[in-house]
Amino acid sequence: MKPKWFQTTAIDYPNSRPHIGTAFEKLGADVQARYRRMEGYDVFFLMGNDENTLKVADKAKELGLDPQTYCDDMARQFQDVWKALEISYDTFIQTSSERHKQCCRKFIQKVYDNGYIYKGQFEGWYCPGCEEFKSDKIYDENAGQCPNHKRPLVRRSEPCYFFKLSAFADRLLKHLKENPEFVQPESRRNEMIGFIEAEGLKDLNISRHGEEWGIRLPFDPEFTIYVWFDALLTYITGIGYGDDEALFRKYWPCDTHFIGKDITRFHTHIWPAMLWAAGEEAPKRVFSHGFVYFEGGKISKSREEELRAKGLDYLLEPMRIVEKFSSEAFRYFFLRECPYPADGDFGPDRFMEVYNSELANNLGNLFSREMTIAFKNFNGVFEGTAGVKPDSVVPGLDLAVFVAKVRGDVEACRYNLALQAVVQDFLTPTNQYLEANAPWKLVKTDKEAAKKVLFNAVQSLRIASILLKPFIPRSAEAIYTSFNFPKPWAEVTYADAAQLAAQPDDLRVTADLVEGKVKPLFPRIG
Ligand SMILES: [Zn+2]
Repeated sequence: MKPKWFQTTAIDYPNSRPHIGTAFEKLGADVQARYRRMEGYDVFFLMGNDENTLKVADKAKELGLDPQTYCDDMARQFQDVWKALEISYDTFIQTSSERHKQCCRKFIQKVYDNGYIYKGQFEGWYCPGCEEFKSDKIYDENAGQCPNHKRPLVRRSEPCYFFKLSAFADRLLKHLKENPEFVQPESRRNEMIGFIEAEGLKDLNISRHGEEWGIRLPFDPEFTIYVWFDALLTYITGIGYGDDEALFRKYWPCDTHFIGKDITRFHTHIWPAMLWAAGEEAPKRVFSHGFVYFEGGKISKSREEELRAKGLDYLLEPMRIVEKFSSEAFRYFFLRECPYPADGDFGPDRFMEVYNSELANNLGNLFSREMTIAFKNFNGVFEGTAGVKPDSVVPGLDLAVFVAKVRGDVEACRYNLALQAVVQDFLTPTNQYLEANAPWKLVKTDKEAAKKVLFNAVQSLRIASILLKPFIPRSAEAIYTSFNFPKPWAEVTYADAAQLAAQPDDLRVTADLVEGKVKPLFPRIG
């Protein structure tokens, strides 16, 4: 029996196309999913779009479309981007789907039956022109006026349904304190504990009145479910809650919810309480990642204009970056340069620099040097190497310790540190080994010695490709399958990278040549 691994990303509002920050979240989740699959887990990776919001309905109206047509089209566009980035999700949920709605109603009915939903009065600032309540923040920021209508907001009270969140404050505080894994990174967990200790938890209005678009409350169809409540439920309706009990029991509780740091409270206060109210377990881990900024800030309109004028506006859209370079370049940059638990930065100059120095000049160069000399001087076959154990090319490196460190960083979502270790502690010293031994010169005086140097260095390509498999899956595969390593690529695990291994047959190059040359993995850009 394989152990199971269920993970999700936040679901996105489809009122605009995915931006770089949205893509960053999916990338980090994808690395984890790919790593877990390699390590033998039965992985279920869920993503989706959050469609039952008024903004979405308004946007559709603006375009003269009915909301469903608009949502379906955006869902297709989002998935096009995720596929281009090689995000290996298993299912994509649209919250406007009939199935999701049915299962949501079952959940909310259960919470109602269990006594955690009650009818009350919601009081707040209301604009008769907009026909909606405005937050206290909007009230304060606009001196008590509606920002759209420039008319005074009025105090209004109306019936609504509350979720009894306050009933779970003690249990939640205990849960947060006793389960260090529950909220990661650690700093966010402390923050979440602090909120409850300072303010407690207040009951939450989970209904909206008089709206067309949304999910109706099963016990009072005059009301729709507040969009946050239904959005969180994607995480269970997507694995069969409400209509496929066996599937749901197999994958729940969730192993990791990947979310942006700005929605940590929803996921670590409201979400576990909702689950408990329905008699279910809380998720095992909520990982709230940092943000990606553009050249140190949020992209401004003027900077956007400037980029457009320079012909660099493609940098603003993940899909266009992928089309111009490759999904591997995109994936590598963000995972290497932006720490997943903390904030990171994206800028065109740094993008080129990281790509050229680490992919083109380091990994790519190691690969093409090996291949070129192997073909030119040995016809692609290292004769007499069957059964020979390669020597280490990195002085003082304990391979098992090194791989354990990389593994630890991947599991804790410290992807930038994992990649840093592979590059600095492993690939760079391998290149230095080649420089020091110069097999391209040595081959002229001592062919056997040159062969041994190349044979040893090929091991570094094998090991690096395995460690890089979750990060740059296509390039890693291209490297690994360029040699006749005995273990099939689909079956390699991190444990295979932890040792230098002899193989039963002579090592040989199996890659094809294009016009007598090896196709470069990462052509230099800039
Ligand atoms: Zn208004």
